[in-house]
Amino acid sequence: MMIKSWVSIPEESDFPIENLPYGIARAGGNTFAVTRIGDTVADLSKLYALGLFSEPGFDFEDVFTQPVLNDFISMGQDVHRKLRKRLQEIFSTEHAPDNNLKRMIESIALKPAGEVEMLMPVKVTDYTDFYSSIEHATNVGRMFRDPANALLPNWKHLPVGYHGRASSIVVSGAGIHRPVGQAMPAGAETPVFGPSKMLDFELEMAFVVGRGTELGESVKAKEAENYIFGFLLFNDLSARDIQSWEYVPLGPFLSKNFGSVVSPWIVTLDALEPFRVAGPVQDPEVLPYLQTEGLRNFDINLEVFIQPGEGRESLVCRSNFRHMYWNICQQLAHHTVNGCNITTGDLYASGTISGPEPGSYGSMLELTWRGTKSLKLADGEERKFIDDGDAVIMRGYAAKNGLRIGFGECRVNILPAKF
Ligand code: MN
Repeated sequence: MMIKSWVSIPEESDFPIENLPYGIARAGGNTFAVTRIGDTVADLSKLYALGLFSEPGFDFEDVFTQPVLNDFISMGQDVHRKLRKRLQEIFSTEHAPDNNLKRMIESIALKPAGEVEMLMPVKVTDYTDFYSSIEHATNVGRMFRDPANALLPNWKHLPVGYHGRASSIVVSGAGIHRPVGQAMPAGAETPVFGPSKMLDFELEMAFVVGRGTELGESVKAKEAENYIFGFLLFNDLSARDIQSWEYVPLGPFLSKNFGSVVSPWIVTLDALEPFRVAGPVQDPEVLPYLQTEGLRNFDINLEVFIQPGEGRESLVCRSNFRHMYWNICQQLAHHTVNGCNITTGDLYASGTISGPEPGSYGSMLELTWRGTKSLKLADGEERKFIDDGDAVIMRGYAAKNGLRIGFGECRVNILPAKF
């Protein structure tokens, strides 16, 4: 049953009143925490100032005027759940405030989404990238190693990952310069230096940690969701030519840390509750510390578009978060099983989310099979990798029984190399 709102919500909006994602907006020189309903953002600091949050534990005096959501996130799941319920009340038709108060809310706290600039929602304290899609890992293994033995022996026994770089994670709308670096082209005997010729996207989702642990503690797989605040779309930009030369034996480095992009809205686990699905069957059975029960994957449609300059957008990939072989609980349990501590604001990315069909591969590397074929775009152009001037746009939404919970978009503009 959809909840009706007195705020207008366009058909097919990512942001019905069942979503209520969190973000940070800027307008008129001020920065404030917001949620979104349809094409309207609601300034949470103003709703607080209007006296609309009076329940015990709702001490939002300082948190909604911070430049990031970290302090709000660390208030804990109980507060987040109560606030979600309260916001649904305030904006529902059924429990709508009286007309006076409604006019106050409209004039003081609500703004058209197009009139605010969305900023980075969290200070990312640490960032890890997993490699949890079996289709992606298999495709990469087939391309770079042994087509008959594409997965390395550890892959089905632990969620492979690496520690990434938090400082270069930016919010949707950013421009990222094409990285320069070393590569060893096929047939060359010495490395070459210059702008990457194989710039790629990786279609991923990321979760934000909502609760920290002490060094030495570990998060149990069955309790892991208590440590997760919500999800974002994530583009892990990758320079394939730099990567294939540098990554032996310690993994990706400069091929990844020049920029990654998140969508501005953090969609909570509670909003995604109706879209739980079972993950793929894990065979062989995983070790006890990685075992989970219930539905731990999420049915979220994911799309990637390339838009050259002022040209038209072309859909190049359609995938789904449900394909993940390793779920978020397993990722967090594995990450902390050795006592590694986590912090509110940590970001854990899924790894490239590829599906089983060629059109569902989550990177150009796979879509063009390492540049051996081209993708045709709407205006007649072709791409093997990403060109300067291209925008890469990711969108994601879950939909079921008339309810649609979306993420908005995660957009990056690729600028020429700067070095
Ligand atoms: Mn990645």
